[in-house]
Amino acid sequence: MAEAFAAVEIIAAKRDRKELSNPQIDWIVDAYTRGVVADEQMSALLMAILLNGMNEREISRWTDAMINSGERMTWHALSVPTVDKHSTGGVGDKITLPLAPLVAACGAAVPQLSGRGLGHTGGTLDKLEAVPGWRASLSNDEMLKVLKDVGAVICAAGAGLAPADKKLYALRDVTATVEAIPLIASSIMSKKIAEGTSALILDVKTGSGAFMSDPKRAEELARTMVSLGQRAGVKTRALVTAMDVPLGLTAGNALEVRESVEVLAGGGPVDVVELTVLLAREMLDAAGVKASKDPETALKDGSAMDKWRAMISAQGGDPDAPLPKAKEKQVISAEKTGTISSMDALKVGVSAWRLGAGRERQGEKVQAGAGIELHAKPGEKISAGAPLFTLHTDDSSRFARAEEALLGAVSISDDGSVAPRLPLVVTRIEA
Ligand code: URA
Repeated sequence: MAEAFAAVEIIAAKRDRKELSNPQIDWIVDAYTRGVVADEQMSALLMAILLNGMNEREISRWTDAMINSGERMTWHALSVPTVDKHSTGGVGDKITLPLAPLVAACGAAVPQLSGRGLGHTGGTLDKLEAVPGWRASLSNDEMLKVLKDVGAVICAAGAGLAPADKKLYALRDVTATVEAIPLIASSIMSKKIAEGTSALILDVKTGSGAFMSDPKRAEELARTMVSLGQRAGVKTRALVTAMDVPLGLTAGNALEVRESVEVLAGGGPVDVVELTVLLAREMLDAAGVKASKDPETALKDGSAMDKWRAMISAQGGDPDAPLPKAKEKQVISAEKTGTISSMDALKVGVSAWRLGAGRERQGEKVQAGAGIELHAKPGEKISAGAPLFTLHTDDSSRFARAEEALLGAVSISDDGSVAPRLPLVVTRIEA
């Protein structure tokens, strides 16, 4: 059968800053997924989109076309409203781990499809795979069963969900076209809308450790995604939050699971607890759930921990098994006495990645125990020679490059001054 369009005409239209029509968008996304449009043609179109942008209608249609490339999940079988959260990723951002069971403990259902690490930012699935026995791949029926029995499930998106995005994302990764707001927004929202959640909270990170370091661009991305969610009937809100300093005191898979369990046990670092509770309240409110208890209470009274244990066990994990530890450790100490004035999230993230917490090539295995422990954060006093970081890895040859990444990551002031920081919540966007 003859094809409705020629890819080259669509590429030329975007190259010449013209709007793409709905039929053109529907066709090119579908034809690329079918293998009719070649990678080199789609690469050229993606670059034209990155350079010349898309208007709201085009972004919305592109998102719909990606959703329509695969299945749409539904959760009508559940008796409670569904709500999900998506983070654009940061250093030490383990919030999903305590958040999903916490929100379930307060009365909503959380169907969370998560991803793996991307560059220096960690991925929820890589973190949870540090738990012995835990399984990321579930069938749709298994996912529904865990949601019914526990109220929260975190797993990998199956091959049937937005297959156009899987192909497009892999291509963007190798053609320097990841950073286009229309492409990021449609990629994230196509998966979240196809996932079938009724409400969604977006945590859009900004600052050096985020993918959108400029707060203005992060806000534009957040607004674009909120509008896509609303159009699709998903109650969507976004918080643009700080990622200038790592979240919590750990970056790395098993290290972050340990810290998440501390939060679920009613302890853990203040910033992780604050963001977890804030996002939980937003999720419950957006889902329209009259919470059976406040999230802060659910962290203190053990009910969120009970959900965590049930969620891990339901996916084959052993919540009591010791977490993997790296074979080698190296401590980095403060060079002088003073107050920690700043700590660059990006440098810490790159260092953790070089230690083996992230992957250099697609499909590579990550080290469960690798990563960095932070012994102090900005605003705290430190003495010369006191530990600042502990580096963890199974392969001691990685220490040199990890240490190199940390050069200039921390500044220490003599007079107690602290560099300006982003507020935890930079902007809140509700349509
Ligand atoms: N995460 C996604 O799923 N897609 C993007 O484009 C960027 C981050």
